[in-house]
Amino acid sequence: MWGYQTLQAAYNNCVIGPIMHQRRYVDSKEIVTVRSISGDLDIPSKIRCKCFFYRQLHSIGPLHLNKQRLPWVTCEPTSLKLETPQILAFYSPIYRSSFHLHVFLISLFFISEALISQKLWRREKKEMMGSDPLSQTKPIPIPTQEEESSSQSAALLSFNTDSSFDPSAKESSSKPSTTIIFIALILLTCIALSAAFAFAFLFYSSSSSSSSSSPASSATEHSLSRPLKKLEKPVVLLVSSDGFRFGYQFKTPTPNIHRLIDNGTEAEMGLISVFPTLTFPNHYSIVTGLYPAYHGIINNHFLDPKTGEFFTMASHEPKWWLGEPLWETVVNHGLKAATYFWPGSEVKKGSWNCPEKFCMNYNGSVPFEDRVDTVLSYFDLPSSEIPVFMTLYFEDPDHQGHQVGPDDPEITEAVARIDRMIGRLIDGLEKRGIFEDVTIIMVGDHGMVGTCDKKLIFLEDLASWIEIPAEWVQSYSPLLAIRPPPGYAPSDVVAKMKEGLESGKVENGKYLKVYLKEELPSRLHYVASDRIPPIIGLIEESFKVEQKRTKRKECGGSHGYDNAVFSMRTIFIGHGPQFARGKKVPSFENVQIYNLVTSILKIQGPPNNGSSAFPVSILLPSQ
Ligand SMILES: [Zn+2]
Repeated sequence: MWGYQTLQAAYNNCVIGPIMHQRRYVDSKEIVTVRSISGDLDIPSKIRCKCFFYRQLHSIGPLHLNKQRLPWVTCEPTSLKLETPQILAFYSPIYRSSFHLHVFLISLFFISEALISQKLWRREKKEMMGSDPLSQTKPIPIPTQEEESSSQSAALLSFNTDSSFDPSAKESSSKPSTTIIFIALILLTCIALSAAFAFAFLFYSSSSSSSSSSPASSATEHSLSRPLKKLEKPVVLLVSSDGFRFGYQFKTPTPNIHRLIDNGTEAEMGLISVFPTLTFPNHYSIVTGLYPAYHGIINNHFLDPKTGEFFTMASHEPKWWLGEPLWETVVNHGLKAATYFWPGSEVKKGSWNCPEKFCMNYNGSVPFEDRVDTVLSYFDLPSSEIPVFMTLYFEDPDHQGHQVGPDDPEITEAVARIDRMIGRLIDGLEKRGIFEDVTIIMVGDHGMVGTCDKKLIFLEDLASWIEIPAEWVQSYSPLLAIRPPPGYAPSDVVAKMKEGLESGKVENGKYLKVYLKEELPSRLHYVASDRIPPIIGLIEESFKVEQKRTKRKECGGSHGYDNAVFSMRTIFIGHGPQFARGKKVPSFENVQIYNLVTSILKIQGPPNNGSSAFPVSILLPSQ
């Protein structure tokens, strides 16, 4: 009921449900149609929900409300920073239950205290007035000064310092106060014990209810990894759905993705991308365990200041791609790897020579079905030939997200299509009798946020403080990266830009924060590479920076913002012999995935930015 009220409260403040019709004008008012819990609803397009509600709804999203799946919720701007995880935690089932428990216990405590106070007050009054049976039935009189003193002592709140106080009365009140302390202590002990039992029960029921959601699970399966039945070696299939924002899985029925979730392990509040939340830096972090500053792919395109050369998404020379990607680690161990598209996979580096048979050159026009079928065909090879590590990449729903933003029905359709591809994959594995043997790790690289509200910041507006020519700017949005030419001190440029942005005279200036890269928040890990330009601007979610005003209509979606922003999160699902069924784990950064994969394959990779303890925390121990 509590959750339902929350939803109602949010309903009055938020856009709830998928947007069924994009903005349009009715009676000169801009409106959108949203499918809410009570049917389709026309609402002003400018309505914005407060972050507070956004957090609530996103966090209770995975729960089931009144046995119905929570409708999709959208609102912006949203800036859910990682610094406030307790808010998420508060609304998770266990904390929600403990909230109720707390309210109950606190109420119990106050009621008990009030009852004791009243009872003792009456008792003392009785002692003082003699045992007149009538006094018990009389209405409670307004306490006299003496009565008030004893009543106060009964409440353990005050000490009597009045020297003129009648000593006999004092004597009579000291006895009950010892009793009161004793009773209060017993009561507190009882409350503490009941709380402990209740928590134990909640934790137990939480874990057992999550396991009961998976029909095939049993108690023993939760303690040890499951043995391989048909395959001879563990095989990891790493699937990426580009721009699959965390929460998309609730937009539409996704039975296949949910089959993996229900029978596998999921990052309950999503996978955290690395900064900048862009495709190439993130995909390469996933397979190297390194932050972009260390694996070298610091943006989708950038300049190497040492050589003056430009990196683009078609650059396959090994000099750009630092670190050791998983396919290389696998081959180093004498095992086979196969890549059906992945940024960096075509780069011939170290022991990885991108073999024709197992390494596909990127071609976005290959139908998704063909990609799935090709990967499935690898399992028909003789046992020793089956690659132990495979990648599979889909451009959707990123592709649509850029064009129409995250709330368009096109996204819903793209998500449904990705789900069908997962279904095709599961079917193929089941036909081969290896679905339970193969480890499927399904991830995205980043989230997506709408950019339709003319939330623009123009560099030309800074001209009164400093001219920023377009040649200085390596990227605008959502990562502003500026490299001034020699002769300009970056610190001076930053100081002047800040002055302008903070002057209140630059439109939307307060939504852009510029930093010398060394002064960026350390949690972004975005400094230790010459390739990172000296000046970085962090743009508030869903804002964009442009050089100058144009007549271009802006409306779509974007990503690349601070990775602490909730809309930049994506999904993580692990399904396979070493993943517990129905398990939820807290969000983590994608640099942890490298060690997770090497751990499953029982091979050793080089040190990286992931934690060596992470796999133990998420995987089932081996048999
Ligand atoms: Zn994208």
